[in-house]
Amino acid sequence: LFVTLEGGDGAGKSTQAELLEQWLHERGRSTLRTREPGGTPLGASIRELVLHGRGHIDARAEALLYAADRAQHIATVVRPALHAGTVVLQDRYVDSSIAYQGAGRELGGDEIRELSRWATRDLVPDLTVLLDLDVAEGRRRLDAARGRFDRLEAEAAAFHERVRRTYLELAASEPDRFLVVDATLERDAIAELIRARVDVALA
Ligand code: C5P
Repeated sequence: LFVTLEGGDGAGKSTQAELLEQWLHERGRSTLRTREPGGTPLGASIRELVLHGRGHIDARAEALLYAADRAQHIATVVRPALHAGTVVLQDRYVDSSIAYQGAGRELGGDEIRELSRWATRDLVPDLTVLLDLDVAEGRRRLDAARGRFDRLEAEAAAFHERVRRTYLELAASEPDRFLVVDATLERDAIAELIRARVDVALA
């Protein structure tokens, strides 16, 4: 079973991945928790390049770096794990690229989807959990975690609004694959909604 977690920064993806993994372990399932970018040694280098090169990397170059990270990760880590019957819980996948590179950086969702399909030989998740969060609230959470409260700067706000809107459109177009959860719900309530859906997927 291949489960991906998506959503804006500060939506709580890692917390939920952790809770889901614990629950799966209690039920005797073997799991692999992984993430993009950065789920392989090559990917860790790419993650450094991309996240530290922000503002200097051309949008298409950035999209290709994410695609290279993904190709390596799917071929060497995720496919072998799925083949062995492991439940893979992955923080971010193709939907992130469609939202961030396709819509955020305005490269076009269809082009990015095609690139991702090629990079992954068309590996589609069985379930994608979208933790949906208001952009300003996401920013407030991140700033609080860093101990400061910045005002959301206008250009960044528009970028993240496009990301959020695109995630919601993707979810609406593939309701069987997506579970959309309101990220402002209580942590354990969110975990319960995710478990219910994973339980059905495992049956
Ligand atoms: O979720 P994580 O902290 O790993 O993501 C790191 C950053 O990389 C995020 O803030 C997101 O803005 C960015 N990202 C992106 N395009 C992707 C994946 C992540 O711009 N495809």
